Amino acid sequence: MPVHPATDIRTDFTLLIDGAAIGAPHSLDVINPATGQVFARCPAAGRVELDRAVEGARRAFPGWRDMSFADRAERIRGLCQSLKQHQDELAHLLTMEQGKPLSQAKDEITRAATQSEGLTRIPIVPQVIEDNDQRRIELQWFPLGVAGIITPWNAPINLAAGPLTSALYTGNCVVLKPSPYTPLCTLKLGEIAREHFPRGVVNVLAGGDDLGRWMTEHPGIDKVGFTGSVEAGKQVMAAAAKTLKRVTLELGGNDAAIVLDDVDPKAIAPKLFFASFVNSGQVCMAIKRIYAHERVYDALCAALADEARKAKVGSGLEPDTQLGPIQNREQYDRVLGILEDTKRSGGRILAGGEVPATDGYFVPPTIVADIDEHSRLVREEQFGPIVPVLKFSDEDDALRRANDTRYGLSGSVWSSNPERAAALASRLEVGTAWVNHHRATSATVPFGGAKESGIGRVYSEMGLKAYLEPRVVSVLKSS
Ligand code: NAD
Repeated sequence: MPVHPATDIRTDFTLLIDGAAIGAPHSLDVINPATGQVFARCPAAGRVELDRAVEGARRAFPGWRDMSFADRAERIRGLCQSLKQHQDELAHLLTMEQGKPLSQAKDEITRAATQSEGLTRIPIVPQVIEDNDQRRIELQWFPLGVAGIITPWNAPINLAAGPLTSALYTGNCVVLKPSPYTPLCTLKLGEIAREHFPRGVVNVLAGGDDLGRWMTEHPGIDKVGFTGSVEAGKQVMAAAAKTLKRVTLELGGNDAAIVLDDVDPKAIAPKLFFASFVNSGQVCMAIKRIYAHERVYDALCAALADEARKAKVGSGLEPDTQLGPIQNREQYDRVLGILEDTKRSGGRILAGGEVPATDGYFVPPTIVADIDEHSRLVREEQFGPIVPVLKFSDEDDALRRANDTRYGLSGSVWSSNPERAAALASRLEVGTAWVNHHRATSATVPFGGAKESGIGRVYSEMGLKAYLEPRVVSVLKSS
């Protein structure tokens, strides 16, 4: 661990517990992945801080629950306005802790605010199932109580905003925990939230995986909104079972893009490249496998390799950087392991593949052709800037190979004939199948995974109702 004079390290961070901005006896060091150096330190919550946050949230719950949707929406929109006002400052911090280019950090904050505002415009109304002379049956929705929201390091603000807004808008109070690798922006989000919500409604705790485990076991938490890896998601579900907490699990993916024989490879290569490599591939719904028809295979490989060679890799603070570093050392080592395995198993590297010797966690965008279907790069979620291009001659075979995975987050089909592509897309075993685009979400469209990529959906009425319990009220009109 590098030694720094104390003045080099930012320490202006606090937890938000029951309306108070406070410190804690323990702390977390945060590393800038572009340099490999610690640049900030923040308080880390233990069990004591968690208990206080949960108690505060439970106390705040009845008052928040009994506010109208319109009043809660107004406060959330106030938070969104403040997010936009603090965009530059937050984006800079996000780039420092996460690594992504500054322009993409700004986009993440805009997206978080826009999607949150969008969610607060979705009406939740009781449904009359039956109403006649004898009886009236109504389906109502009521909030669950306290939601624990646990987020990963790849898009900490945007991945907090969706579940946070969903929980709050529907009348729940929240304890929010970011990844220990990227706690800072979320703590700043807590600081901003403090101005907009009554005491105890929003609590933000930084901490390690243990804190996440304690949250999933805590009897005062009624629902867990978890975004992260499949492995941790399974542990969350097992722990939640003990108190029958509701769960929404947004987990990993191994998205396939199937490219049909009628595309113009040069025209689609930049789109496929961006959807694969944005945030250096550290996106749950990034394209992680490309299946290309043999008729367009060579031309597409060449065009993708051109894109990879053109892309500027570097610190996210440099204005012309397109791809930043891998976010943390563990993930960097994992990606290097996959690269080694790719070379060993005979994959043909068309661009990238050579890792620079720097203190930052940089891996150049790497395009791999002719790789064994059973290699780690094809089977696992690489979550990094290495993408395999695999050849097919028969569409049914491509579909079978695309579906031959435990993951089922999303996928796409690319063709100059959208109807033909849509027919194939409808056979992908995924939560979202796109045609001629990839990686698009919005407040009104449900998003989530099939198979081991998750349980439940975020966004849309469906995502909001995951923070509500249905209640049937059945009234006999004569006694
Ligand atoms: P991770 O599972 O290691 O950690 C995610 C969060 O869970 C962190 O806050 C961590 O501290 C906490 N945690 C870890 N173990 C826990 C446990 N047993 N109980 C409770 N909390 C626990 O994931 P990561 O490495 O931070 O993120 C990368 C993964 O997230 C990738 O697999 C990616 O695909 C996935 N992801 C999914 C989506 C989606 O919407 N489906 C979005 C972004 C990322």
